[in-house]
Amino acid sequence: MEVCVYSTRAWDRNFLATANRERQHALRFLETRLDAQTAALAAGARAVSAFVNDRLDAQTLAILADLGVGLVALRCTGFNQVDLEAAGRLGIRIGRVPAYSPEAVAEHAVALMLALNRHIHRAFNRVREGNFTLDGLMGFDMKGRTAGIVGTGAIGAAVARILLGFGCRIVATDPHPDKALEALGVGYLPFPELAEASDILTLHCPLTPETHHLVDARTLERMKPGAMLINTSRGAVVDTRALIAALKSGHLGSLGLDVYEEESHLFFRDLSDEVITDDVFARLLTFPNVLITGHQGFFTREALAVIAETTLANIDSFAASGAPLHEVSASMLAA
Ligand code: NAD
Repeated sequence: MEVCVYSTRAWDRNFLATANRERQHALRFLETRLDAQTAALAAGARAVSAFVNDRLDAQTLAILADLGVGLVALRCTGFNQVDLEAAGRLGIRIGRVPAYSPEAVAEHAVALMLALNRHIHRAFNRVREGNFTLDGLMGFDMKGRTAGIVGTGAIGAAVARILLGFGCRIVATDPHPDKALEALGVGYLPFPELAEASDILTLHCPLTPETHHLVDARTLERMKPGAMLINTSRGAVVDTRALIAALKSGHLGSLGLDVYEEESHLFFRDLSDEVITDDVFARLLTFPNVLITGHQGFFTREALAVIAETTLANIDSFAASGAPLHEVSASMLAA
């Protein structure tokens, strides 16, 4: 089947080409993002593949449907970038990668925690400049600290298991508590109480209307002075302007981000020769207690291999039966 694969970098092409070796789908790789301006590039393809910052709104989907595209194979878990109702109306099926190495993202979240706590980003630069002083680098023992996990699905549960190994006390919030985690001593609390109890608050829920700006000025006020916030879920789960205010006042102790509300204008591209015009993002970069990575939580060999294999399995299944193996639709979510 002919598939137009958007938002690809060298690693996507390598892993997808390897997974496709036996299958022989006609994969057409594009670097450009998918949106209403670029959808026409899919002409001739029966399926497209898209990533986290592609924009699959009603307009884009309508153009794809007109071209005869019947499948969008997402190379990610989250599907907040897709208008599922419009897809259903237009007869476009949506496949996704429901789980791929949750440890990849979980370990990255913990890497952000440890780096912020022990100021590794600052120590790295200091030592390279011959400055071996320790002022400003004091951290805290993870053992005995309370970590609050928002969303104990695949990734949140992996974070909980890692942090239990450090001797942290784990509390969590999730509309569907995980019995196996409860058996390990994880306590579930309503979100406001979780925010109050946590020394480290780490976000692992999907972006939905309910979780949009879940961490806002009110949540930040509730948090302990000096607490750490980690977001590797989706940028808009936090209100970035409120974070800046809390960092300026000193109430928020440290912040680790792998995602950003307006990341689609920045991430996955080399802008090192350009001026960053996003003033909110630029302000975040000025804080010594903020560590930002450009949506790399998923970026391990193991995860990329599973993403490629599952994406092609969705395409195989659509070619054989008209439905992707791992489908998501508005009606499934409503059920
Ligand atoms: P998952 O579906 O296994 O788990 C999500 C959990 O969040 C579920 O248990 C769900 O019940 C819970 N949840 C839903 N609404 C909630 C709410 N209002 N409050 C608390 N919990 C809520 O998903 P996952 O694989 O663990 O991924 C979680 C999120 O991580 C994804 O939706 C995606 O946005 C993000 N992600 C980021 C990267 C990255 O590279 N940074 C990679 C993969 C996924």
